[in-house]
Amino acid sequence: MLGENYSLAASYLAEADVIVAGGGSAGFSAALAAARQGAKTILVEKNAILGGVATMGMMMSIGNHICTGDDRLAIRGIPEELVDRLARESGTNPNWKSAKHQHITFDIEVMIDLMYRMLSEAGVKILINTTVTDTLMDGNRIKGVLISHDKAGRFRLSGKTFVDATGDALLAAQAGEVCTLNKDQATMLYLLSDVDLDELYEFLRTHQEQYPTHLDHDSTFAEFEKNWLENGIFHTPHGGGLIYSFIQDAVKEGGYKKQVGNIGGLDVLGLFGLKQNKTCLINSNVLFVDCGDPWQSSSVEIEARGMIKPCVDFFRKAMPGFQNAKLVSSAREIGLRGWRRIHGQYPFTNSEKGKPSRFPDVVWCGPCIGWAESKIPAEKFFGGGLKYLGGQVKLNTMHDVPFRALRPNNVPNLVMASGKSYAGGCLRPIAHCLAAGQAAGVAAALAAPLGDFDKMDIRSLQSALLRQGVYLGDTQRLKELGL
Ligand SMILES: Cc1cc2nc3c(=O)[nH]c(=O)nc-3n(C[C@H](O)[C@H](O)[C@H](O)COP(=O)(O)OP(=O)(O)OC[C@H]3O[C@@H](n4cnc5c(N)ncnc54)[C@H](O)[C@@H]3O)c2cc1C
Repeated sequence: MLGENYSLAASYLAEADVIVAGGGSAGFSAALAAARQGAKTILVEKNAILGGVATMGMMMSIGNHICTGDDRLAIRGIPEELVDRLARESGTNPNWKSAKHQHITFDIEVMIDLMYRMLSEAGVKILINTTVTDTLMDGNRIKGVLISHDKAGRFRLSGKTFVDATGDALLAAQAGEVCTLNKDQATMLYLLSDVDLDELYEFLRTHQEQYPTHLDHDSTFAEFEKNWLENGIFHTPHGGGLIYSFIQDAVKEGGYKKQVGNIGGLDVLGLFGLKQNKTCLINSNVLFVDCGDPWQSSSVEIEARGMIKPCVDFFRKAMPGFQNAKLVSSAREIGLRGWRRIHGQYPFTNSEKGKPSRFPDVVWCGPCIGWAESKIPAEKFFGGGLKYLGGQVKLNTMHDVPFRALRPNNVPNLVMASGKSYAGGCLRPIAHCLAAGQAAGVAAALAAPLGDFDKMDIRSLQSALLRQGVYLGDTQRLKELGL
């Protein structure tokens, strides 16, 4: 938060009802929902493309937290619309509405283009290459933000309500909200082309004992096979490399290292491929980043990028189908899983995500997640902490997410969108970030004339979310809520 003299040195650029800081999955959805709710909305994104971790970080796969175990759609609204439109534009497979479809792997370029078009259709004003550098305060209320365009310099924006979708709880911290800081667990993702995924599929078909059934997501070889042969989506769970003989034999014989310097988990190997593109995304390496230390975070990110080439060289030699693989792109930024978080008015936890909890201020529902234990001791993977690695199992029930989880304690006109920056980060999968963004955006539009989320009627918010296609429960539940 800066003093009046400093902020006045930046010229005034625009005002809006709702200002959304950060254009990742959550910010995209928040800006879209706010504009559709009739608010004059500005989205500010520091990069040239939208999508955050999902595009700049190359995490081109939406975990299917959208469907319950019995194939009912839990998360609807913008997440469902976005994936349907992706599928219509050949950006993913149209058969995605099934719990057996664990990952909705998508084409990054289709996603980027679609996000811009959807926001333009709704009339969102977008500032790219523009970083929010500070909040301008009036007591404990945010009255504006200072922004810095990479070429044009510094400006002020004023607004009525603000959505923090930076993924770093930046607005919350700058507005004085008490936050906790974690060492971020990060991964440098990269994409290979010219991969013969049929050959890798053939290897797994003939070595089914090596298919990772209880890692990351609980999936059988038969489900993996169906997704590949019928839907053209190749997904083997994160941690699969701990089982594949072509990796682990090399680790034992000294031909491949699972830890080099600060970069660990080089053998964990989650794979995401799209038949239509003959590409394969590699999700394999784990490092810990102190985001509060610019030298440390810069050096480990550079170190992680430096490990890509040796890993690709090894895959070309040892991995079935990767003989001709070429590195097409490394992530433009390292994928961060969550650094700074608010406590929030309701500290929603992982255990609530795992049981059918009910809240009167529900703003979206997600499938309950159970855990299947694997036989692999977790210290092999992360170096301790967990006893065993567990696979996520989707249950047939749903849990509510309360609006209070998204609300800081001390800033009346701020709402959080990114699932990385509240609820201990347990709502960080992309589908939840999209759902949270929609809830935050509609709320921001409704609260703008009041300038205070606490004065907003929660039933009005829920009714507006229902009108935008969000699922808040069955008919009986809606009756109980008075909706
Ligand atoms: C390695 C990895 C693997 C993952 N795997 C999966 C998976 O398989 N499936 C799944 O569903 N989820 C997965 N996740 C989680 C998921 O990808 C992220 O939690 C989600 O994409 C976060 O979206 P977001 O919009 O909340 O945040 P982000 O994507 O981080 O977006 C924040 C945006 O704010 C912008 N920004 C930040 N600061 C400023 C500022 N000061 N001014 C302006 N703009 C700013 C950033 O540039 C960015 O665009 C994974 C995450 C990681 C890191």
